[in-house]
Amino acid sequence: MNRVRSSNVGYPRIGEKREWKKALEQFWAGKLEKKAFLQQIEEIRLSSLQKQKEQGIDLIPVGDFSLYDHVLDTAVMFGLVPTRFEYSGGKVSLETYFDIARGTNGAVASEMTKWFNTNYHYIVPELNGVVPALVENRPLQFYKEAKQKLDIDGKPVILGPVTFVKLSKGYEASEFKTIVNQFVPLYAAILRELQEEGVNWVQIDEPILAKTISEEELAVFNDVYQQLHRAAPNVKVILQTYFESIDHYEEVISLPVQGIGLDFVHDHGQNLTALKTYGFPKDKVLAAGIIDGRNIWRANLDEKYSLLEEIAEVVSKDRLIVQPSSSLLHVPITVKNEETLDELLKEALSFADEKLEETVILAKGLQDGKETIQNEIAASTKAIQALNHSASRNHTQVQEAIQNLNTYRAEREAAFHVRQEVQEEMFQLPLLPTTTIGSFPQTQEVRKQRLNWRKGELTDAKYEEYIKAEIKKWIEIQEELGLDVLVHGEFERTDMVEYFGEKLAGFQFTQFGWVQSYGSRCVKPPLIYGDVSYQEPMTVKETEYAQSLTTKPVKGMLTGPITILNWSFVRDDISRYEVANQIALALRKEVETLEENGICMIQVDEPAIREGLPLKQEKWESYLNAAVYAFKLATTSVQNETQIHTHMCYSDFKEIIDAITALDADVISIETSRSHGELIHAFEENTYSKGIGLGVYDIHSPRVPTLEEITRNIDRALQVLNPKLFWINPDCGLKTRGMDETVAALAVMVEAAEQTRERL
Ligand code: GLN
Ligand code: ZN
Repeated sequence: MNRVRSSNVGYPRIGEKREWKKALEQFWAGKLEKKAFLQQIEEIRLSSLQKQKEQGIDLIPVGDFSLYDHVLDTAVMFGLVPTRFEYSGGKVSLETYFDIARGTNGAVASEMTKWFNTNYHYIVPELNGVVPALVENRPLQFYKEAKQKLDIDGKPVILGPVTFVKLSKGYEASEFKTIVNQFVPLYAAILRELQEEGVNWVQIDEPILAKTISEEELAVFNDVYQQLHRAAPNVKVILQTYFESIDHYEEVISLPVQGIGLDFVHDHGQNLTALKTYGFPKDKVLAAGIIDGRNIWRANLDEKYSLLEEIAEVVSKDRLIVQPSSSLLHVPITVKNEETLDELLKEALSFADEKLEETVILAKGLQDGKETIQNEIAASTKAIQALNHSASRNHTQVQEAIQNLNTYRAEREAAFHVRQEVQEEMFQLPLLPTTTIGSFPQTQEVRKQRLNWRKGELTDAKYEEYIKAEIKKWIEIQEELGLDVLVHGEFERTDMVEYFGEKLAGFQFTQFGWVQSYGSRCVKPPLIYGDVSYQEPMTVKETEYAQSLTTKPVKGMLTGPITILNWSFVRDDISRYEVANQIALALRKEVETLEENGICMIQVDEPAIREGLPLKQEKWESYLNAAVYAFKLATTSVQNETQIHTHMCYSDFKEIIDAITALDADVISIETSRSHGELIHAFEENTYSKGIGLGVYDIHSPRVPTLEEITRNIDRALQVLNPKLFWINPDCGLKTRGMDETVAALAVMVEAAEQTRERL
């Protein structure tokens, strides 16, 4: 073939209306027979392939589909089953596969962690001395399926050996090379069988190349790919990278593979610079990722075409493949089904299917000449301009405020030790004050009431009354439990980002814009499409009401600017940091309004602060500086007496303790149950000297903790932390827990606090 080809890197699994999720959950619940389940899943898989074929994609990925996670798929293909699960060799059963992912009564699930800098989570393979074996050639199986059933000559996608081992655990760093070498013959066998089958192209994903990698690791790459090339010289391997530029461009393009896949969207221009500086080998193809696989905006085809032309100056067209920058796993499937969005916004969106359309258009344009895609280019420019010129993106007040950020004080009035004194005076809290993280159980009943209200079956007044009754009930429960600092319970919120998104200008919500987060769990991130601005108080009514019922302090509860940013699809016509500052200014107003209305403790949650860390370490500092600034912009205008809290969870915060300190919150509560005490040591080394609550029990399980357990956790923390600064709280919000277990667990926690106080 002598023309410019189009390709896809990976397609979402979940189905246009989450059919995949529904099938999985029914199967797990025993409501769907295995056979029927597998049948439904096959339909989803094949219809996704068929769609790509109809779109005109030349290289259609196969084997990227998964029943849970592609890293787990790779692990089970090599028979890597942790010994706590039943397994006696051979192909891993469907049941065992799900057990590893989800755990069983007797065996905990494998750990789950974030896939690079995305919100997708993969199952961490456990190597632990298990000798890998090729128990199933998945890529081959999916290749054959697509060929036989749809007459598609697919491009098998495989997670590469270096990245796979790098993402696994259960070995020492010094064993890295040896372990990778255990896998090489297995990969070689896969490739050989693909070669025998007559497979043309294979995509081997090595996203680890987009991180900062060492010389030794680079040498491992060289060695591995030499061996794979020798094993199957006739399959054309595309070594695929994504999410960032590659640091070792010259070495990577010299590896013995037939194609290199580079991300030209999230590379900060560095892949293009390298391409122009060092050229590109004449005997390889370049798979150029130029359509954003991570965001949902329509591509400006004019700009994309120019980018392609620049690339084509270095790489001849017959060696050029046009594709999305990464797998489309990270975006929803299609804009087509959306019925409630503003037309203006809808026109400016592009989900997976639309992205593939853009890919095909660009490949065709490059082949046949720009004039042949003039209409498509014009349509994209028009849609993007219309959104850019709309009132939503031209909010003068917001833009002026952003221009004049220096007029906003982004530091507290006084230093922490001064605030600490006035706050002590003001709140008169006991030593080791007890509190919770914000939410109380969102029971079936709470959800039902909200749904009815949304459907219009419940009036605003009735719904409000219901929420008030819940608040009152829980203020009484908290009083009875003897907690020191109370919360209103967040009953009016479905989700900590959605709630604020619905109240602030600049956000819209899709109907079907779901993306996989982990396993069958999907999230529907809000779209931040316009200037974000404050419209009206968002949390004041509920908080004020809660405070009116008690003499104890009630903490106001907000979601921080960085978490809102990181859990949304964010407009890309201005910088993310500017968007964060817009959100921060709106929250600042809310903080001030709460304060004016007598709320003297305000918690601003930032659980997602670590998630936004750039892949390359050299970029961490600028991200963290911006994150700290946005948080402070939101929180520092209050008086010294007002106590600012923050809360973090879901990740390992050891590496960013300096940034956490720089937030200058008066009190921070952090999840510890998943950090195995390492966090405490980290805080010890850094002698954190502001208020701190290290979660004293894990809220992820319904089990009620014992007095001894909680006491042990408190004592362990007090060995390193100043008791005058220590708070006692659970790990995270209690939204997902039941009522009885929550009350029981909090009673134990309060008891443990009281006993400890007496001992001190
Ligand atoms: N305040 C929120 C809650 O309690 C915090 C949630 C979170 O940390 N993810 O639910
Ligand atoms: Zn939390």
